[in-house]
Amino acid sequence: MQGLMQDRPLLISNMIVHAAKFHGSREIVSRLVEGPIHTTNYAEVEYRSRKLAHAMAGFGIKHGDRVGTLAWNTFRHLEIWYAVSGMGSVCHTLNPRLFPDQIVYIANHAQDRLLFVDLTFLPLVETIIDRLTSVEAVILMSDRTHLPASSKIPNLMVYEDFLDQGSDDYAWPQFDETTASSLCYTSGTTGNPKGVLYSHRSTSIHSLACNSADALGIRSVDSVLPVVPMFHANAWSLPYGCAMTGSKMVMPGAAMDGKSIHELLESQQVTFTAAVPTVWLGLLQYLEAGNLGLSSLKRVVIGGSACPRSMIEAFEVKYGVDVFHAWGMTETSPLGTVGALKAGMEDWDLDKRLDAKVKQGRLIFGIDMKITGDDDKALPHDGKAFGNLKVRGPWVVGAYFKGDGGAILDDQGFFDTGDVATIDPDGFMQITDRAKDVIKSGGEWISSIEIENLTVGHPDVAEAAVIGIAHPKWDERPLLIIVPKSGRSPTKADLLAYLSDKIAKWWMPDDVVFVSEIPHTATGKIQKTTLRSQFANHKLAG
Ligand code: AMP
Repeated sequence: MQGLMQDRPLLISNMIVHAAKFHGSREIVSRLVEGPIHTTNYAEVEYRSRKLAHAMAGFGIKHGDRVGTLAWNTFRHLEIWYAVSGMGSVCHTLNPRLFPDQIVYIANHAQDRLLFVDLTFLPLVETIIDRLTSVEAVILMSDRTHLPASSKIPNLMVYEDFLDQGSDDYAWPQFDETTASSLCYTSGTTGNPKGVLYSHRSTSIHSLACNSADALGIRSVDSVLPVVPMFHANAWSLPYGCAMTGSKMVMPGAAMDGKSIHELLESQQVTFTAAVPTVWLGLLQYLEAGNLGLSSLKRVVIGGSACPRSMIEAFEVKYGVDVFHAWGMTETSPLGTVGALKAGMEDWDLDKRLDAKVKQGRLIFGIDMKITGDDDKALPHDGKAFGNLKVRGPWVVGAYFKGDGGAILDDQGFFDTGDVATIDPDGFMQITDRAKDVIKSGGEWISSIEIENLTVGHPDVAEAAVIGIAHPKWDERPLLIIVPKSGRSPTKADLLAYLSDKIAKWWMPDDVVFVSEIPHTATGKIQKTTLRSQFANHKLAG
């Protein structure tokens, strides 16, 4: 027997319509790449995105066509998101930090017809425009005063003029909720990047789940600063979640340094923010150097890479900000787990609470996870056994765009994340490594992430990376790579002594090297492949 409730599709346009109708005057503040701080609101954004959708339809963009963006978090990027998905086309956010060749590959693979670009990325697009085989027009996300007198891009258009060609007498179309809404490519450390194609349904359910209290838990009273870029994994759903709740949005544009972020946190009285650990490292160093505080911030979500314990402690103890460590990936929309404490844990002493908070957290209702050994058998949730982390659910990838990579699910519908993790009896998952980064020593596994996290707790260390180096007897042994804080010069003996009571003896790095910089990927993760080739011939001191 079927239920008798209304069958209304879950569409992304509903989110912005809701925000415009019931939170119309709530502000959306952006730091523009052109310089000034710009303020608009949900009613304006909905009105302008409808006009933009009509203008794109006039250009010939149809249901299912891909429209690319190379852009920072600003109100215009938000308008494009809602316009493109709302009209039934696919919003393809390109990551401008990728190499130009990768951007060309991705835009051509996706067959983007239009490309919206921020002023900052015009020079980049000029160098690749000849190779973009499907792009029919490039639209500069600015007004006419910023249109350069000449450009190598033929028929370069400007956003405000393009938008003005549209009419607000346009109604958001209704269609099946399983229609594709947006597209994001994985960073592809091996092989070509692969496309993850989200739907209106997956995006709506994911955003509802993210907004639940033990997940991101944002509310209409919040002032939200999504530092996490809209070009990386849907900015962790915040551009959708904020519209659903009517939260104020504060969009940082291109400036993610400690000073700029602090300015926005304070001037916009931000209560909730989210970003990768490197951004917070910059902010914490800026606060420390200037002896500054955080007057309004209540919660910060940290994910994308492992959040060091010392970072959680600094936020919570020094600045009174509650930290939620979260895990996810492009393939999971992205949110999978969030480290909200369970009943009773709030009363634990600081050390024990930090032990729980440093883990990547608990599953959000709606998706399921398991860890398996190399024989594919499920491992116990005892906090000790570590295995391959696999997930399934309505916002987890079922297949890559155009079938790249073939069948990717096991016979129970689980997707192998490529991460290695433990799950404890409370359900808290902890990532120990990417499967390809784990260090295999004498048949046992050493967690590079755990050693990195502990090492950055040393007062002289700015950043740490651990990689496996080939070893004739043990197969691999850990090498610790350190970027010292400026003006500090820790020694190998200092660091090994610091670690000696924190990790098992056989986990102790065989050697320590000091570098001025550790390479990062386009999504801010430590680039271990580069480090491995850089140190391939390193002789372990033993
Ligand atoms: P991406 O698809 O670029 O967002 O990368 C996803 C990958 O980032 C995951 O599979 C993890 O390896 C890593 N990752 C994300 N969040 C965390 C976290 N909190 N701790 C450790 N690794 C993380």
